[in-house]
Amino acid sequence: MDRAGTLPDRCITCNAPAQGNRLRRKLYCSPAAWKIGASLAPFAALAAGVYLDVSLLAYSFWPLVVILIVANMVVRKSLKLEVGICPRHRDVRFTLIALSWTCIVGVFAGIFTLSGGATGAIILLGSLLALVVLVVVQSFVGAQAVSLKDVSPDYAWLAGTGEAFRSALPELN
Ligand SMILES: [Zn+2]
Repeated sequence: MDRAGTLPDRCITCNAPAQGNRLRRKLYCSPAAWKIGASLAPFAALAAGVYLDVSLLAYSFWPLVVILIVANMVVRKSLKLEVGICPRHRDVRFTLIALSWTCIVGVFAGIFTLSGGATGAIILLGSLLALVVLVVVQSFVGAQAVSLKDVSPDYAWLAGTGEAFRSALPELN
């Protein structure tokens, strides 16, 4: 899409009329090579530290993670975007977010009741598992799945938009 352009007033997932429902999203992207390198570097340092018996390298794991997270904020490119969303998918989004928060509360409840025996552990594991499932689901469906593939000074490339929405865009036909 044109970077300065706006998306049509249609649901980004199913292309139904969005009826003016807009969702403000800030999307980020960083180069693929950087993403892979940055996520492997701390583990490489940890492995090298253990292998070479250099404890300084092994202890650098967490500081390195923090440095890379900060560096990522500098490296990544961002785009502010308003996407249309239909009432149905807005409800789906709210439900998924509400469920995620319920799971997070469940995780903490599990941690606090952990000393109480098996029940705490079951609550903790169940909530964690449900949370992971919800995060995966959200990265594939709905407005949460929209991501930024690349940005140039003039254009932006989006990924994760719905099939119906994509095929109705004039610039792709
Ligand atoms: Zn929709």
